[in-house]
Amino acid sequence: LSKRIIANNDDDETGRLIDTLNDLLNRLEEAFSREKRFTSDASHELRTPIAIIRVHAEENLKEERSAKEYRHALKVIQKQTDYMSHLVGQLLLLARSDMNQHPIEKESLDFTELIEIVIEEMEELALKKDINIDFEIEQGLRLYGDQSMLTQLLINLLDNAIKYTPPKGSIDIKVKSQSNQIRIEIKDTGIGISKEDQAYIFDRFYRVDKSRSRASGGSGLGLSICQWIVRIHKGNIEIESEINQGSIFTIYLPQK
Ligand code: ADP
Repeated sequence: LSKRIIANNDDDETGRLIDTLNDLLNRLEEAFSREKRFTSDASHELRTPIAIIRVHAEENLKEERSAKEYRHALKVIQKQTDYMSHLVGQLLLLARSDMNQHPIEKESLDFTELIEIVIEEMEELALKKDINIDFEIEQGLRLYGDQSMLTQLLINLLDNAIKYTPPKGSIDIKVKSQSNQIRIEIKDTGIGISKEDQAYIFDRFYRVDKSRSRASGGSGLGLSICQWIVRIHKGNIEIESEINQGSIFTIYLPQK
């Protein structure tokens, strides 16, 4: 694939055809290498939990152990299988999105109600870390969208806000209509993201701190899924963040 045809004369028709072909080759090559990276990253992500499961199974099969030790091993195995099943779900979603094969079921939705339900569901998780969620949501906001995808989008962002905010922090959510768009702001008092990392956080498998993210069940795919969901709703997602101060994710979605 890396061979290129060189045109003798760029200006004639053959020259232009060769340019187009070369351009096509470049894009194909890019797509192939993206695909290869995705496959190798995905395999790597799956290899880690498999290795952990294997070690625990092997160690516990070597010799008789106490019930407490077996229980501990089973707990580790359970946690890793949960992580793998979450990861496989995310990978399937992304693979389908790449092939434009994910069913999108858009309908007229009460967005106010949708976000209120998500907040209520996530509150318990936040309270476990003594994190307070404050919200100010305009009533009666409607949009045309896919309910399960928009729910997933909000869950991912809130889950991150909770995950990356130390105990006793707070999350502030503001939702309002602004020039025919619904503006959703999710602000946390968490660890923040540096300017350099902000450029990559929407990339697949990108994690600022791999071990921290993995320990809290992160795969580095959440934000790339968010970006895809926002894109298919013809919206926008922006980030503002300061290390050790917190992050603000702002989403704009076309209002109905
Ligand atoms: P993960 O599953 O690792 O959370 P995401 O794609 O959701 O993956 O996020 C990518 C990375 O961006 C995370 O690993 C984390 O480093 C960073 N990040 C995302 N949200 C926040 C946040 N609210 N505060 C600080 N860092 C965040």
